[in-house]
Amino acid sequence: MIRIAIQSKGRLNEQSVELLKDAGVTIDEQKRKFLGRAANYPLEVLYLRDDDIPEVVADGSSDIGIVGLNEVAETGADVNIVRKLGFGRCRISLAVPKAVEYTSIEWFNGKTIATSYPNVLKRFFAEKGIDASIRVIKGSVEIAPAAGIADAIFDIVSSGGTLISNGLVEVERVFESEAVLIGGKNLTEEKKSILDSMLFRIDAVSNSRGKKYILMNLPSDKIDEAIRILPALRSPTVMPLAAEGWCSLHSVVKDIDLWEKVEKLKALGAEGILVLQLDKVIE
Ligand code: ATP
Ligand code: MG
Repeated sequence: MIRIAIQSKGRLNEQSVELLKDAGVTIDEQKRKFLGRAANYPLEVLYLRDDDIPEVVADGSSDIGIVGLNEVAETGADVNIVRKLGFGRCRISLAVPKAVEYTSIEWFNGKTIATSYPNVLKRFFAEKGIDASIRVIKGSVEIAPAAGIADAIFDIVSSGGTLISNGLVEVERVFESEAVLIGGKNLTEEKKSILDSMLFRIDAVSNSRGKKYILMNLPSDKIDEAIRILPALRSPTVMPLAAEGWCSLHSVVKDIDLWEKVEKLKALGAEGILVLQLDKVIE
């Protein structure tokens, strides 16, 4: 049995549950329940506030967890970062009021900065040799300058919309974050082997994200050119068709390249192009 801690509600909850589901682990979705049990896998799910997840994994109350890298950095919890998961992307940035003439990081000397991430900020300032005072505020950090509580803020930014609507400008991107799978440092052999089997599934899911399966019919004499357009896992699959001089080509393509490649393939004479969802890629 292995225990995973995930956020009970909030920005990471849904995608954490989704990731487990895609990995074939069915859990009871009553989020308010504190501890759930997977129906078809030796896994228990502990639902917590995200702030508590790194420590709970560090002290062994949970074996693994899904949490923002920002929380791991802030708590300084002694855990392994097992995988970056590619969702919950954000950054922690320094932002100042629009009216400020900001020229360099030296501006922060002698200023007061409001934040919920004092430790990450302290480390950053120490590195840069900045002497500022840090004021810990748990919520609504972005209103601190307008309220006269601080000169600037250090807070989470994803699109930047909240900053703009509070008259603030992002001036230093300090810490890049995304959701990570963390693991305790003293897992038993049994737990390690369950974790390995989960990682195998999680990697298959991650590998399929942002990709599509593409197949098409192509004149046989165009295969070499098509393969140059479509490098695949190993190499594209080519199968002869009943119609003489034609074959069928199958491959995997990244979403961001899809339309560009489809256009090139069409120009080569490809017909009947099908683009399909890709569920898992097991390498
Ligand atoms: P909890 O009640 O669990 O303590 P919370 O209010 O502290 O929740 P959320 O706002 O749900 O936290 O954010 C959880 C995590 O989502 C953050 O720690 C961060 O890693 C990530 N995240 C991604 N984008 C954003 C964003 N725009 N604002 C805040 N967090 C974000
Ligand atoms: Mg929190």
